[in-house]
Amino acid sequence: MTLPIRPELAGLEPYGAPQLDVPVRLNVNENPYAPSARVVADIVGAVAEAAAGLNRYPDRDFAPLRAGLAAYLARESHVSLAPEQLWAANGSNEVMLHLLQAFGGPGRSVVSFAPTYSMYPEYARDTSTAWHVGRRQDDFTVDPEHAAATIARYAPSVVLLASPNNPTGTALPSGTVRAVLDAAAQVPGGCVVVVDEAYAEFRRAGTPSALALLGEYPHLAVSRTMSKAFGMAGARLGYLAAARPLVDALRVVRLPYHLSAVTQAVALAALGHAEELMAQVDGLRRERDALVEWLRGNGLRVADSDANFVLFGVFDDRHAIWQGLLDRGVLIRETGPEGWLRASVGTPEETAAFRAALVEVAGL
Ligand code: PMP
Repeated sequence: MTLPIRPELAGLEPYGAPQLDVPVRLNVNENPYAPSARVVADIVGAVAEAAAGLNRYPDRDFAPLRAGLAAYLARESHVSLAPEQLWAANGSNEVMLHLLQAFGGPGRSVVSFAPTYSMYPEYARDTSTAWHVGRRQDDFTVDPEHAAATIARYAPSVVLLASPNNPTGTALPSGTVRAVLDAAAQVPGGCVVVVDEAYAEFRRAGTPSALALLGEYPHLAVSRTMSKAFGMAGARLGYLAAARPLVDALRVVRLPYHLSAVTQAVALAALGHAEELMAQVDGLRRERDALVEWLRGNGLRVADSDANFVLFGVFDDRHAIWQGLLDRGVLIRETGPEGWLRASVGTPEETAAFRAALVEVAGL
């Protein structure tokens, strides 16, 4: 018997980088630093409390968590947001699925600028939203005029703009984000612009967050995550800030009780330790900048990075380089334009192991 799988899904493999048990894992842009014993103890206490009430469904609107996230953003980016302007879900992946469920759909389209995060076309496919891409320039920035023309051409209902971008690390200046927002405002029927700031906390000094633009643009949504700078990838907590009517539209499409009581407890407890959890961010930034310099010093091309990873190349046979590194216990990611590879920034020891392996494999 054949299963009636949707034709566009037939024969597809699930998305995901290999999860291999190797000594140095630099392939999915995680934070290499595990939470301290103090943070773990607090999380365990919060989960114990939540566990005592697990016979009940969780708080559907997770008001305390939304207030906690607003307070965090006020400290991190100096923007003042009401808790009702925050939304959260199981990773920013789910936040973005909510966005496409609410604002995409059959007969509509989403625009992004390639190369970019490889999950974006999957959100589009899964919500039956048409997928169109404009181009990034050779340095992986987005040309504002090209962006405006692409938006005018496709008249999408959603634009996905990663900044800093994955897999390139490129952060966009406010001028580009404003040009995209202004072009989106001209789309008949409306267009939501999502600035995906999963890596925002790693941005270099002077690079602004799109959060500062929220007061001016009711069709802007800025998504963030606790998976990267916070070092909480295992907790699955992504979130978004936007004007209240936009957030209220997401509440319509979420599944009832999508955010478990355990997830809410873990995220709130972690937010209480934001400063300690993020203490390593400065060090990771320095480690990143040093790695970029080292790679360039060895004659490689490296994209400017505002994230916790670097995209470098260009190799005639990137798979051979990737495999050679893996054979030496270092797992990175074979992604991005042909010939390029991406490595996350690890601890100084992990980065040293990566450099040593690359010297051997690439003959630097
Ligand atoms: N956006 C970008 C640009 C990412 O790179 C990632 C994770 N790799 C995500 C969103 C999703 O992260 P999470 O679901 O863990 O919040």
